[in-house]
Amino acid sequence: MNEKIPAVVLGATGSVGQRFVQLLNEHPWFQVIALTGSQRSIGKPYRQVCHWTLAEPMPNWAGDMVVRPSTPAAASAPLAFSALPAAEALQIEPLFAKAGSAVCSNASAFRRQPDVPILLPEVNPRHAGLVAAQRKKRDWDGCIVTNPNCSSTGLTVVLKALQDAFGVRQAVVVTLQALSGAGYPGVASMDIQDNILPWIEGEEDKVEWEPRKMLGEIQGDKINLAELTLSAHTNRVPVSDGHTACLSVALNQPAQLTQVEQVLRNYQAPEISRNLPSAPQPVIHFDPRPDRPQPRLDRMCGRGMTTVVGRLRQDPLLSLKMVVLSHNTIRGAAGGAIYNAELLYQQGMIKR
Ligand code: NAP
Repeated sequence: MNEKIPAVVLGATGSVGQRFVQLLNEHPWFQVIALTGSQRSIGKPYRQVCHWTLAEPMPNWAGDMVVRPSTPAAASAPLAFSALPAAEALQIEPLFAKAGSAVCSNASAFRRQPDVPILLPEVNPRHAGLVAAQRKKRDWDGCIVTNPNCSSTGLTVVLKALQDAFGVRQAVVVTLQALSGAGYPGVASMDIQDNILPWIEGEEDKVEWEPRKMLGEIQGDKINLAELTLSAHTNRVPVSDGHTACLSVALNQPAQLTQVEQVLRNYQAPEISRNLPSAPQPVIHFDPRPDRPQPRLDRMCGRGMTTVVGRLRQDPLLSLKMVVLSHNTIRGAAGGAIYNAELLYQQGMIKR
């Protein structure tokens, strides 16, 4: 690529926003030209207002940038990565789409809209086909595409592999979700130290619905939800990064554990998504050790983009059970939105 595509990061100072900055540093296709924040940060250097919590150093180019308002007039680009809270995303993202930006959003604001895809390029790249109908219906040149809730991400990758091979009828999932999933400063330390919080507002509904949309079939300008019933319990645990999910599934046909292991190990992204710069390599890492996956040891598998699966065994109630791990701010958020943008670019959907 001769010239990189200019990109803005909306809500760049938060937990996901700074992940965008870190992952977009020296991205082969995209170049960050503006960072935005709330009134708290506007007009100040990013270095001063961003409480940087990542192990990798803040890139100098970002530290020197002055934080701008989240308006197309102040920060326009063909590509906008959004790490805004949902209420702000609802107002701000359409302004960018209207101004011609392809908005790759982490927020939940538009996920349930029938003309807005929830994309995982290794699962449902064809759902990007909704963008044409979205442009027509909403009369804008840009678009909004979303990535799923961070705890639906690894779960859906695994369900897709099983759905393709055996069919999936039901699933029960218990999540153990990391602190960074609550943003910064997130949960008070006095609440989470030596503790587990068995409630995350709105999360169970998302985990029970979003995979059905992603695993559904696109038909013309709509998606038929997958016929799959999910039951979710979602918990916040004192882990910094990496969401763990204990998953039990009922398959449509009997399967040996060795067959299932092979299906998971061999799962490949569809051709169009397989070799994009952020593509997970491999998509699923199967770990046969009895005490894995563990968030601290395994979350960076495949640069944080790979879904890690272990503890595969028979389930006495449903068919199978296993443990799934996915990095919530990388595969589940910023890395996922960047992978989506790469898919849109590959499909000619980003207007320079
Ligand atoms: P966060 O740490 O609270 O960061 C929120 C960001 O939004 C900050 O940069 C903040 O800027 C900015 N902001 C707040 N109000 C604004 C306004 N009125 N105008 C412009 N900017 C505003 O939250 P987060 O965890 O990064 O989450 C961001 C989004 O991603 C949320 O929608 C969340 O649900 C979603 N998500 C998060 C994860 C995760 O693992 N954390 C995973 C998937 C999806 P200031 O600092 O300047 O106030």
